[in-house]
Amino acid sequence: MASAFSAFRVSLSRISPFRVSHFSYPVTSAFAKTNRILCNSSHSVSSSPSSSFSLMETSENPRWRPMCLYYTHGKCTKLDDPAHLEIFNHDCSKELPVTAADLERKNPQEFNFFLVLDLEGKVEILEFPVLIVDAKTLEVVDLFHRFVRPTKMSEEAINKYIEGKYGEVGVDRVWHDTAIPFKQVIEEFEAWLAEHSLWGKETDGALNDAAFVTCGNWDIKTKIPEQCVVSNIKLPPYFMEWINLKDVYLNFYDREARGMVSMMKQCGIRLMGSHHLGIDDTKNITRVVQRMLSEGAVLKLTARRSKSHMRNVEFLFKNRIK
Ligand SMILES: [Zn+2]
Repeated sequence: MASAFSAFRVSLSRISPFRVSHFSYPVTSAFAKTNRILCNSSHSVSSSPSSSFSLMETSENPRWRPMCLYYTHGKCTKLDDPAHLEIFNHDCSKELPVTAADLERKNPQEFNFFLVLDLEGKVEILEFPVLIVDAKTLEVVDLFHRFVRPTKMSEEAINKYIEGKYGEVGVDRVWHDTAIPFKQVIEEFEAWLAEHSLWGKETDGALNDAAFVTCGNWDIKTKIPEQCVVSNIKLPPYFMEWINLKDVYLNFYDREARGMVSMMKQCGIRLMGSHHLGIDDTKNITRVVQRMLSEGAVLKLTARRSKSHMRNVEFLFKNRIK
C-alpha cells in the first residue's frame, strides 16, 4: 500500500486540494482499490458533525461537517459519491464564510495574506496545517495540510504515539495512510506557496506579501527549528518572523487570552471540530483572525529571529503575553 501511494505522491501532492476535482488521477488498479477501501463509510472524521458557524452567527449556513482528511492530502477518490459528500466537507472556505457586514470595519493591513499555522506534535511534528486568509476579503483562499511521519522514532513508538493522539478522534488510520517525512512536507509546502505566488526565488527566501499567524510563539520559535535539526535540514528563511495572535489580541482588545480556547470564549465564537487536531485548531484560530480583522485589528509582526544568532528572537510588541 505504501509503495502504491509513494508512486503518485509527487503528482498528487502538488495539486491544491481545491483543484483536485479537476484533476484525473493516473491511478493503477491497485491504487484505486486501496483508495476505495480508504474512502468508504469508515472514512476518518475530525469529530462528529455539529451546528453551523459564521462570523455573524447566522442560521443560514450549511450544517458543519468534518473535513475529508484524504481530500486535504489530495487523496480522496470519492468526489463523485453523493453519500460521501454529504458526510464530509471538501471545501473549508464554506465553513469559514464572510459577509459584507464583516468587511465594514476592517482596516488596511501591512500584508495581503495571512498564513495561519498550528502544528501538532510534542516529540516530533505530526501535523502541519496552514490556511491562507486574504486580508482584503477575509476569505480563506486555500489550505495546505500534511500529516508528518517522525524520522527518529521507532515504528513501535510511532504507532503508540499516533494511537494515543489521533486514535481518540478517529483519524489514526488516515494519519498512517498519508503521513510523510518533514523534509518532504517542506518541499511540498514550498511548491504550494509558489503556486500562490507567496514565495519564490525572487523573494530571497522570505514570504511575498504574507506573514505567518500562530497562537503563541512555540510553533515557529521553538518547534520548527527543533524539527529541522532532527530532520537534518536548514531552517527555511521564511520562518524568520511571525505574528503571535495572542500579542495582537492583548493589544487590540486590552485583555489577556492564554490560548485559542480562551480567545474563542471571550469572543463568543464556538469551538468547532476536535481540539488538538491541527487542521481543526487552525480553522478555529482562523475564525478568531477573521473576527479580529472584521473588528478593525491590524495584524503586525510580533517576533523576528536574529539573522546572526538564529536562537535569538526579538519581540516587537512592548505589551505582550509572557
Ligand atoms: Zn473525500
